[in-house]
Amino acid sequence: MKRDIKQKIDEVFSRCIRMDAGWCISCKKSVPLDCSHLHGRARLGLRWLPLNCVGQCRECHRYYTDNPEEFRAWRRHHLGPKVDDFLIRLAGMTFKFSKAEQGDILDHYRRVEFDIAQGGIGVPAAPIIQEKIDAVRGAGMQ
Ligand SMILES: [Zn+2]
Repeated sequence: MKRDIKQKIDEVFSRCIRMDAGWCISCKKSVPLDCSHLHGRARLGLRWLPLNCVGQCRECHRYYTDNPEEFRAWRRHHLGPKVDDFLIRLAGMTFKFSKAEQGDILDHYRRVEFDIAQGGIGVPAAPIIQEKIDAVRGAGMQ
């Protein structure tokens, strides 16, 4: 029954994305939402990256899961080509977070969840995730 830390982060992070979104990004219905990952969550660098996630109703989420071509086109339109290309690049990379770093990530998104519940807007990425991603971006610009 013991949930590991990745699952705990998944749960808190998902609530942040869904609470912040308020409605389905595709059909704009205010119904219970999924936290939909634009790139699958197998890659740790993208799993808890707000830029890679949207609030989507179950119906739209399932539709795009079943129609990957259409989904890719929609994703590119949603993100714009520059960010889409960057996320595609990140999706091809391996990121690792130590247990201590995962603890920091969990604490961060717990604070964000609290902020959103108090009326805060937006889900800032956990600093350790942002740092690793900035390092990739920096390397790409040289
Ligand atoms: Zn929808």
